[in-house]
Amino acid sequence: MRFTILFFLIMNLIPSFLFSQNEQKVKIAVLIDDVGMKTDALDLFFEFGEKLNFAVLPFLPKSKECYEIILKSQNKAILHMPMQSMAHPEMNAKTVGMISIEMTNSLIENKLNEALGQFPNVEGFNNHMGSKFTSNSLKMNVVLQFGKARNLFFIDSNTYTKPSKNGKVENPETALAYNLAKNLGLKTFYNSFFIDNENEIPYIENALLEAARQALITGNLLIIGHYRQNTAQALCNMKQKMLQMGIEFVFITELF
Ligand SMILES: [Zn+2]
Repeated sequence: MRFTILFFLIMNLIPSFLFSQNEQKVKIAVLIDDVGMKTDALDLFFEFGEKLNFAVLPFLPKSKECYEIILKSQNKAILHMPMQSMAHPEMNAKTVGMISIEMTNSLIENKLNEALGQFPNVEGFNNHMGSKFTSNSLKMNVVLQFGKARNLFFIDSNTYTKPSKNGKVENPETALAYNLAKNLGLKTFYNSFFIDNENEIPYIENALLEAARQALITGNLLIIGHYRQNTAQALCNMKQKMLQMGIEFVFITELF
């Protein structure tokens, strides 16, 4: 009896994290970009059954509906803010709500306000396209100051530095907007790489495996995929293997 009491007393003095099964876990936040045109692929993503982050574009036919469904699913949604691209002027022209470096600061703030108005209560945002905008530190500072004033986190999708196809960005400091955000004191993170540069299930499965390997070597990371059936299917296919490797799928806010 006395031993039992002593045993429990000692056990209480030992920090509980020493017994945690998550002790060895490395965190990966999966962010799914370009949600908002259709609701049809959401169910397949939800079948994944682990925490997912969705980036919803504003002003699309199903933007608000997707946002509501994601919130009800217990997953997280952020604003996918359209920003001017360097390489795709034709895409710039048809991207609704996009901010560009030619705009005045107050117009940029108005556009951000309008986009945020679509998704009340989002905790953060990342850039849709944006190779031209995110590499302009003057204009990017306007966006980040706006985000900071509203306590939003910022994810650099890393479209400027062209993340490598099958590996972590060699030097995260080259993610320009991430660096700016960090200096301004925002909660921030950057995309290590896009997992579905090719819309083929085996390619995406390999990229996920590579992300897990990288995370185990270099620590927590964030990867971006797109709102497509193949990406959802590859995630479902690789889930068990990644969990067995010691990966924990998390919300972005768990990376800060
Ligand atoms: Zn996008």
